[in-house]
Amino acid sequence: MEFYKRFQTRKVTIGSVTIGGGSLIAVQSMTNVDSRDWKATVKQIKQLEETGCEIIRVSFPDLESACNIRRIKKNIKIPLVADIHFDYRIALEAIKQGIDKLRINPGNIGSKDKVEVLVKEAKKARIPIRIGVNAGSLKEVRNFSESLPRANALVDTAIDHVRILEKHDFQDIVVSLKTSDINTTVQSYKIFASKRNYPLHLGITEAGPLQNGSVKSTAGLGIMLYEGIGDTLRVSLTADPVEEVKIAYSLLRSMKLRNFGVEIISCPTCSRCEVDLIKVVSEIEKKISIIKNLNKFSRPLKIALMGCIVNGFGESRDADFGIVGGRNKGILFEKGKILGEISLDKWVDKLIYMIRDYQK
Ligand code: SF4
Repeated sequence: MEFYKRFQTRKVTIGSVTIGGGSLIAVQSMTNVDSRDWKATVKQIKQLEETGCEIIRVSFPDLESACNIRRIKKNIKIPLVADIHFDYRIALEAIKQGIDKLRINPGNIGSKDKVEVLVKEAKKARIPIRIGVNAGSLKEVRNFSESLPRANALVDTAIDHVRILEKHDFQDIVVSLKTSDINTTVQSYKIFASKRNYPLHLGITEAGPLQNGSVKSTAGLGIMLYEGIGDTLRVSLTADPVEEVKIAYSLLRSMKLRNFGVEIISCPTCSRCEVDLIKVVSEIEKKISIIKNLNKFSRPLKIALMGCIVNGFGESRDADFGIVGGRNKGILFEKGKILGEISLDKWVDKLIYMIRDYQK
């Protein structure tokens, strides 16, 4: 397969965001505060919006929490997705309250009549539905020893659910097939993508805590994105959801699927390095992270911070700004040209000044 040639999926609109059909891969996350507390929910969504989250999912476990949807929506800018299980009345309330999308499993919503009522209302309100099949929601609990049979079972379940919606002439569908195992998840998405063209929401579910979960998620999501699969994604971490959004953007930017903000190229250092590059890079990274307007709308910018001349000149010349280290000093580059020497104590301030200036 050609590098990044994306699967052609249907376009689905979720509030102000369109996914599928070649649209940008949208970054989403999920709140983890009690949704009965609408103020706490709004507060967390606002933090996520600031980090660049484009679609937010909230779990509404009961009618009381679903009655908060209108109030939450009034106070946020990004589309709101309701995660609902078991009780179709909660989903109906979510639609009444103006939700932008539902995530359900038609299989656990109950009788056909209930699904029919729900689909009719979603259609009337022009709300898409995500069918989210997880390994844990497989109807048949079998002890699959290999990933392929499990992947096939996940796809079969998803297609069963898709058919329920299609039977009601409903095609505003997004699908996810998440498991906590990379091989199974990748195979599931690949099989599904070869059978149906509904947009796919990617994720490795229950990926784990920040470090391991990020590695596991990016390994799995990276394979699928490389194969052109995926229209929106969530990095699922047992951590502050703000971290999920940061990791998602870092992955998409690394794969050149989203291009914005500052990309830092820096060497791992070795015995040739005569500056404390690790300290400098971490200071710059920290300062960049608090520059408010350096978000997904900012101009893409590459800076190179290199320990010595071995690979330093090449990388710095290729970057918008670069510094090649020497003994407690460096050579500063801008757009491939040498600007002169710069002492180590001025690296951070100078680069931050240049970055701010570039974004004006
Ligand atoms: Fe070592 Fe120089 Fe390579 Fe950095 S650029 S890793 S200091 S050889």
